[in-house]
Amino acid sequence: MSGIVIVGAGEAGTRAAFTLRETGYDGAIRLIGAETHLPYERPPLSKPSNGDVTMKAICSGEALLNAGITYLPGAEVTQLDVAGQSLTLSDGQLLGYSKLLLATGARPRKLSCLGAARALDFRTYDDAKTILDTINASRSVAIIGGGLIGMELAAMLRGKGLVVSVIEAAPKPLGRAVPLRFAAKMHTRHIEEGVNFYLGVGVSEILGDIVLLTNGAEVPADVVVAAIGVQPEISLAEKAGLAIGNGILTNPFLQTSDRHIFAAGDCAAVEQYGGGHARFESWRNARSQAETAARNMAGASDAFSAIPWFWTDQYDLGLQVAGLPQAHHQSVVRALPTGELAFYLDEGTLVAAAGLGIGNSVAKDIKLSEMLIAAGISPDPAALSDPTVNLKILLKSARAA
Ligand code: FAD
Repeated sequence: MSGIVIVGAGEAGTRAAFTLRETGYDGAIRLIGAETHLPYERPPLSKPSNGDVTMKAICSGEALLNAGITYLPGAEVTQLDVAGQSLTLSDGQLLGYSKLLLATGARPRKLSCLGAARALDFRTYDDAKTILDTINASRSVAIIGGGLIGMELAAMLRGKGLVVSVIEAAPKPLGRAVPLRFAAKMHTRHIEEGVNFYLGVGVSEILGDIVLLTNGAEVPADVVVAAIGVQPEISLAEKAGLAIGNGILTNPFLQTSDRHIFAAGDCAAVEQYGGGHARFESWRNARSQAETAARNMAGASDAFSAIPWFWTDQYDLGLQVAGLPQAHHQSVVRALPTGELAFYLDEGTLVAAAGLGIGNSVAKDIKLSEMLIAAGISPDPAALSDPTVNLKILLKSARAA
């Protein structure tokens, strides 16, 4: 038996396995995952819940069985032989493949300060469980890293009444992915909720119950969590001699430097039409790349072209961002009853949109904005900022034009 093998049973790997069946592929599919659980979604791990860690399965064992997908949990692929089209598992098992998908995701970046081993990671269900179990007997938590994951965790832990401190090397939190305007609003909300911020400063040492900062300040912390970003999991591909950069390099069809091997999700750096490769770390990106890769493994030739999109939930606030807002874009703000939308224009063309509101309230407008971006329109900024102008009407007239 060779067939298709998928390494990594996260969002991308699992979605690819089911898409293969949906496209009519009837050969063998083996889905290999180093984690021991059924495939599960990561976003709920850091979202407000009833106080416990939420395990949201992507699919049931029965669904895998019914789709004829052989799932091998707790199995790590340790070696890839590109010329021989085979893989070795940690238990020594050898598997052949006709096509291979690398959906190995990403792993947490490690701190390099003294006492770094005291910090907990936050990537998997087991990590989340360890954090919450440890925290139940603690009073104060220091989160190193004020990015999306660190700030979501801060909101979650304030909800549990802990003393929460966020330590961030940059002068402001959420600076990487979130447009400045909304990053500032979310920062303010965290301050109102009582989160302590230590900004523009590094960590020199993690001690038993304090974190010592490079400016000499001491942050009380019974528990320390490192949330300083992730690195694409490329070690298998690198050892096998595949082309790598900031991820496993693929062409627009998600095919790596070996024509039998594809990559999707957090581990994949995909060739862009404007030049270079781009890698995204978001749930929808993992799903949509997986779907494209699966169709292409089954014989199609679809270029991956989805508009980047992500969301984050902190307290009762929901933020969604479609496209890639940049500092040089013209931004146009539209007030909403419980929030705000911002549109980003590049030389008059709509290229991105972001919205912040209560709960899921901006979802519909961001969906319409995505359609407007896809339509490549150059709207009148006055119409974008006017809340009485329905985005649906703008879309209709763009399509008619
Ligand atoms: P992963 O989910 O990392 O899956 C890869 C799998 O491959 C892992 O299970 C790993 O164990 C396995 N693997 C790796 N190497 C091997 C090997 N050699 N052999 C076998 N198995 C292997 N995105 C959003 O858009 N919005 C959010 O609100 C959001 N919240 C998040 C909250 C948290 C706490 C985290 C951690 C992520 C969040 N994300 C969010 C990001 C999103 O979850 C990821 O982008 C997505 O899960 C990536 O999916 P993936 O399948 O590419 O990688």
